[in-house]
Amino acid sequence: MSADVILKDVNKVYPNGFHAVYDFNIEIEKGEFIVLAGPSGCGKSTTLRMIAGLEEISSGDLIINGKRCNDVAPKDRDIAMVFQNYALYAHMTVYHNMAFSLTIRKVDPVEIHARVMKAADILGLIPYLNRKPKQLSGGQRQRVACGRAIVRDPVVFLLDEPLSNLDAKLRGTMRKELMQLHERLNATFVYVTHDQIEALTLASRIVVMKDGYVQQIATPKEMFDKPENLFVAGFIGTPPMNFANGSIDLNCEYFEHISGIKFKLTNHQKEILQNYAGKSVIMASRAEYIFIDDASLSKNKGSAFEIDVDYTEYLGAYNLIYGSIGDEKVIAKVYSRQTINADKIKACFDMEKIHFFDIETTKRIR
Ligand code: ATP
Repeated sequence: MSADVILKDVNKVYPNGFHAVYDFNIEIEKGEFIVLAGPSGCGKSTTLRMIAGLEEISSGDLIINGKRCNDVAPKDRDIAMVFQNYALYAHMTVYHNMAFSLTIRKVDPVEIHARVMKAADILGLIPYLNRKPKQLSGGQRQRVACGRAIVRDPVVFLLDEPLSNLDAKLRGTMRKELMQLHERLNATFVYVTHDQIEALTLASRIVVMKDGYVQQIATPKEMFDKPENLFVAGFIGTPPMNFANGSIDLNCEYFEHISGIKFKLTNHQKEILQNYAGKSVIMASRAEYIFIDDASLSKNKGSAFEIDVDYTEYLGAYNLIYGSIGDEKVIAKVYSRQTINADKIKACFDMEKIHFFDIETTKRIR
């Protein structure tokens, strides 16, 4: 595989002096689905717009398909962008919306027709070619916006929150369509979203950003199982990870929670926490790795605790138990066939799945 898009030490400082993106580095392989994720204002759209050529790059290099593109005009970069608001021409039919960018590039009309029909076929838009955008549903408009990008046959598709104007159900459907589209086109996608579920379901790799800095670049599974720092741990996954404050005992045998409950460390944890004996750390667990069934409780005696239950949310297959350990909030995700009818319930962690974070650097200890 070869890298299609390379960003090397890319920075963006806006004319008012605001530094929006710091030292962004990534090599995107051909056919990858990269999702830029992070909270509002973290710099993900700015990064996408720098790749598109809609924002100037303040320093660093952007290489698309082997060519340095910092100073190449947007129309001459091998990219096509799909915007959040679709940016369709209201007075043009679906067909002409898709054909337009090729017409202004003076592509041969026979070729234009072939490309539009092919894109319309891929997207299931053939029955709608003579309609105007206002005669389409949100999902159909979104498909036309994708069609306009597909006809360009770009090296890279750039998508800026393309599903955020759709309702929850349609977003789910369109997520699936986008995944299939990516597979069919075998093209490189760079996709911006603040929705971590979209990131987890769509991406081959996710880039999580905060305050202009890349926090972690990893596959969805790596990001879910091994978040690099407390921010990523809290951002990826629903519900977010549980964090517990406490310290490692002097012999490095236990994590002692601030409530006084002790959790026995695994051999691996004892090894990696050697330098933390007697020091404060944060222990983190996914809600999925808290168990309340008898078999787990007898297997994990060294990590037993009680949850003071505030309330329970029924989610079909699962219950979310909201409660606390001592003064700290905790959320557990358990099978809904396990009945929860007490104010206090016995629970345990799967210590193998527990992470520890350094309080000062906020990084995962490994
Ligand atoms: P959102 O999800 O809200 O779109 P984002 O992560 O895409 O957020 P950006 O649009 O990339 O964020 O903006 C990053 C930061 O840069 C923000 O703090 C924003 O206010 C700032 N910013 C964006 N455009 C400009 C500009 N033209 N001049 C100065 N600052 C800007």
